[in-house]
Amino acid sequence: MREHDVIIVGGGLAGCRAALEIIRTNPSFDVALVAKTHPIRSHSVAAQGGMAATLQNVDPEDSWKSHAFDTVKGSDYLADQDAVEILTKEAPNVVVDLEHMGVLFSRLQDGKIAQRAFGGHSHSRTCYAADKTGHAILHELVNNLRREGVQIYDEWYVMQLILEDAQAKGLVMYHLLDGEIAVVRAKAVMFATGGYGRVFNTTSNDFASTGDGLAMSAAAGVPLEDMEFVQFHPTGLYPAGVLISEAVRGEGAYLINSAGDRFMANYAPKQMELAPRDITSRAITLEIRAGGGVHPDGTAGGPCVFLDLRHLGRDHIMSRIPFCWEEAHRLAGVDAIHEPIPVRPTAHYSMGGIPVNTDGQVRSGSQGLIEGFFAAGESACVSVHGANRLGSNSLLECVVYGKKVGGAIAHYLQNHKLPEIDEQHYQQCAQQQAQSLLDQSGTMRINQLRQAFQDCMSEYCSVFRTDATMREGLEKLQQLKQQYQHIYLDDKDTCWNTELIEALELRNLIIVAEVILTSALSRPETRGAHSREDYPQRDDANFLKHTLAYYSPAGIDIAEMPVVIDQFEPKERKY
Ligand SMILES: Cc1cc2nc3c(=O)[nH]c(=O)nc-3n(C[C@H](O)[C@H](O)[C@H](O)COP(=O)(O)OP(=O)(O)OC[C@H]3O[C@@H](n4cnc5c(N)ncnc54)[C@H](O)[C@@H]3O)c2cc1C
Repeated sequence: MREHDVIIVGGGLAGCRAALEIIRTNPSFDVALVAKTHPIRSHSVAAQGGMAATLQNVDPEDSWKSHAFDTVKGSDYLADQDAVEILTKEAPNVVVDLEHMGVLFSRLQDGKIAQRAFGGHSHSRTCYAADKTGHAILHELVNNLRREGVQIYDEWYVMQLILEDAQAKGLVMYHLLDGEIAVVRAKAVMFATGGYGRVFNTTSNDFASTGDGLAMSAAAGVPLEDMEFVQFHPTGLYPAGVLISEAVRGEGAYLINSAGDRFMANYAPKQMELAPRDITSRAITLEIRAGGGVHPDGTAGGPCVFLDLRHLGRDHIMSRIPFCWEEAHRLAGVDAIHEPIPVRPTAHYSMGGIPVNTDGQVRSGSQGLIEGFFAAGESACVSVHGANRLGSNSLLECVVYGKKVGGAIAHYLQNHKLPEIDEQHYQQCAQQQAQSLLDQSGTMRINQLRQAFQDCMSEYCSVFRTDATMREGLEKLQQLKQQYQHIYLDDKDTCWNTELIEALELRNLIIVAEVILTSALSRPETRGAHSREDYPQRDDANFLKHTLAYYSPAGIDIAEMPVVIDQFEPKERKY
């Protein structure tokens, strides 16, 4: 059996930063990292706009406390404030640390790291590398991992978390290259498996964002926290759904409707286009509903609105946001120097996830912890984003908590031994699971079912929700779930069988979707990104608390957990 001191699932910012911290703390630790993609193809590489930190390079008045307040207000007061304090206090240190590792940030005239405005932030504090920030950071992290001798299993798909007696003991994983199934045991297991954007039909996320880590945890009996909070980014390029970064509005772009008006004046008169994402996505959706939308050719009554950069001028666009210009040009044929870009909300980010404490140790409920199991990044919920994340706080979370959790794991490893596991049992189960999918003599192709499923989630659980629509969605989802038994795979081979992986991913997506819908039904109030048309007000008296959803094939049980409020009392949110 393969064994390591620690095995980390996920080669994005969170996983890589944690691995680096563990090996830097003690180079004799045997650290392994596994990813179903090559690590530098993790979704983190696509992050564009930047990473928030109060370096005070542009705005000397800025402070961690102001960053913390903005984050908590942005979260609609659902973030855990102790976790937010760590996030915002550590931010300047982790940026400097990244720069020492070799990350090339954009600069000001005086040579200091440049910082730009971002939605919901009251100061210009987002550090960036043009509009390719994730790319700049991830490449350096992966270079550093290789230098330090972390073992990387790339293009291995993790099928199962081995969790027995409230202790994580290892993983079962499948090698895409040749179909080998390996059981790995480790003193500690960490999940940094990213988001689940592919639950929806229109998303900014990559094809690999299928919520595997969440579904594997749920299937092993771990609760999932606050899954009703799905972030829809206001400016997905129409119709592709790929992201046009908030950096574009940070650099001064306008949102306009069919009459050419900057309609944000009616929704967030102070912050305008730089209001938080939940508010801006709702504003765009309402504008389109009321007939103020446009067609890409500019005629009124269409399914999108315009993002207008024309007044910024060629030089500014090409030096600060060249990738966004390129995307609009390549995917929508729009030259943003001369024409506005058609945009509308797109599924973007998961506020909820695997519940963890501030050391990244996974919770078994509102009280207990699971031995040897850690998580960080988008798949985790330490709850710094609460009900709505502010732009540029996610890369920050990955790096701050990646580092912190890495430190906690290094400490944990000192006093723990390798667990015992029944290798044969897990190997056989996984083999059977793969084989039964290959043998299934169904009538339906995977993509047919996946499309129907994604359409269902986008229709019934999107920017706006009601009890009736979600119940209908859940019913449809149950029917679609039955059809999973009727899919068939063309590819029966063991070499690069990506179709088999897609089938496993689809099963995970369906679990995640069920948890999202059930959690959303259990919260009859509007908070952050969870917008209930039948309950339009926030209800602190009854719902200022986290949701914990326990999944089992028989159904989902909902429990709750208190919110940590130690600095900022909940107030009405105005922008
Ligand atoms: C287009 C886009 C732009 C963004 N821009 C910004 C921005 O400017 N600022 C900001 O703060 N945030 C931004 N975000 C959000 C941010 O990029 C992500 O939340 C963050 O990068 C997630 O990092 P992560 O390490 O948690 O996971 P990811 O980078 O998503 O990595 C997940 C890893 O897990 C692996 N994995 C998953 N499942 C399995 C499995 N079953 N077996 C093996 N491996 C598995 C994957 O292969 C991958 O390596 C953006 C997001 C998108 C989609």
